[in-house]
Amino acid sequence: MPFDKFHDECGVFGILHHPDAANLVYLGLYALQHRGQESAGIASTLAIPGDPSRHGGDALAPQIYVEREMGHVADIFTHERLERLPGDTAIGHVRYSTAGGSHFRNSQPLVASTSKGPFAIGHNGNLVNGKALRAELERQGSIFNTIADTEVFLHLLSRSPAPDVESAFLDALSQVRGAYSVVALAPGRILAARDPNGFRPLVIGRLGESYCVSSETCAFDLIGADLVREVRAGEVIAIELDGPGPRQRVRTLREAHVRREARCVFEHVYFARPDSRVFGLSVAETRKKFGARLAREHPVAADMVVPVPDSGVFAALGYAHESGIPFEYGLVRNHYVGRTFIEPKQTIRNFGVKVKLNPVRDLVEGKRIVLVDDSIVRGTTSKKIVRMLKQAGAAEVHMRISSPPTTGPCYYGIDTPKRQDLIASTNSVEDICRYIEADSIGYLSTGGMLDAVSAGSDNPTRLYCTACFTGEYPVPSTDDEPALEAISTGPSR
Ligand code: AMP
Repeated sequence: MPFDKFHDECGVFGILHHPDAANLVYLGLYALQHRGQESAGIASTLAIPGDPSRHGGDALAPQIYVEREMGHVADIFTHERLERLPGDTAIGHVRYSTAGGSHFRNSQPLVASTSKGPFAIGHNGNLVNGKALRAELERQGSIFNTIADTEVFLHLLSRSPAPDVESAFLDALSQVRGAYSVVALAPGRILAARDPNGFRPLVIGRLGESYCVSSETCAFDLIGADLVREVRAGEVIAIELDGPGPRQRVRTLREAHVRREARCVFEHVYFARPDSRVFGLSVAETRKKFGARLAREHPVAADMVVPVPDSGVFAALGYAHESGIPFEYGLVRNHYVGRTFIEPKQTIRNFGVKVKLNPVRDLVEGKRIVLVDDSIVRGTTSKKIVRMLKQAGAAEVHMRISSPPTTGPCYYGIDTPKRQDLIASTNSVEDICRYIEADSIGYLSTGGMLDAVSAGSDNPTRLYCTACFTGEYPVPSTDDEPALEAISTGPSR
């Protein structure tokens, strides 16, 4: 059955053999809420299936329990709901997808009864051959319940001739291509993997004897876990008990040969939380470096540097420190409104900017302002904010963007609109400046951005994916025709 492919932004979390497993995953997801606000879910099981001596009495059959729902983590998981997630081992998932994929049945973790036993999986990223694999599986008789790429993993795992769940997981992973950081649950263990390009982050932490995995380190901070290390690009791990005691181990099941890493640079630009460490770097510090570099590349005489909260805050701090122009909170954000970007209709989105941000008139009146944001997607937000500042009396508004022009969609798990809706794909920087009615505009260069994330590497272009800015797609997509077109034509400007 043909379907419209959509692109997920997600966060994943998991913890093995802890008496408060479901509660800790709930907290982990709470910290990862920014990675997806549409649905959330937790699946739980036992680290030692059927052994009552290890679990305070209840000899549960090897079974996976799941609670999933549309909405925010805090609204979904009531005390009663968490009680319905027994066991000492759990994984969770938060998800946001573009309109079209917005259905309960696409929420995760997906749970299935497979030929290798009960299995649950949560996935961050997008496969570039998910559609092709699904078509082939359907041709062979597979029945799908969702339009999420993730379900393909379940079918591949269940159909695998491999004798056990670990080998079947490896078998399934060897058939998918694209971006995936996955966390899976089988009775007795957590399995996790990062694709060989390492598009999306995934880190291992430790809370007492329990190992945990998370999309970002901010979730470890919340539950008091220590960061152990990243799951390496191309690495597949099992987290399991190590002998009869409470000791646990992280076992590497496979390390793929990494030809080219392709860490998503947009995690640093916008997506990750600033208090996280992502790909070994502090997101906050990296954003400040972007801002400092931006100040050097695009200086301007002004009275204050104002961030678009919250996305522009750290880059604006970097710009202010580097330029010596004072940093001011000239815009105040109403924190009780969802992200404007996620509203499906243009009319609601326009309204959303006003609901969300308000200028501090007494600060900005008569002032020349450097307005800093992380990116311009459609241009709607910047246009509204520039207009708002001018209406509040700003004398000049100079737009500064802490990343290069966004010219191409992402096929690896960031929700960007279609190419034609990206203002920079069809307009020059001067046109964009005119459209948003700014007095000047300056984007960070690709070189400047990569310098800030290079961490001493002599060739950062081989470490990061910059496809949305450069049109260089590290893994061709067979699912998304525009990606192929982008590969042959390069960036559209
Ligand atoms: P736009 O009005 O379409 O130009 O949106 C620009 C705003 O969206 C900026 O303030 C960005 O911080 C934010 N943004 C960029 N990428 C995303 C994304 N993938 N999801 C949500 N917001 C985003």
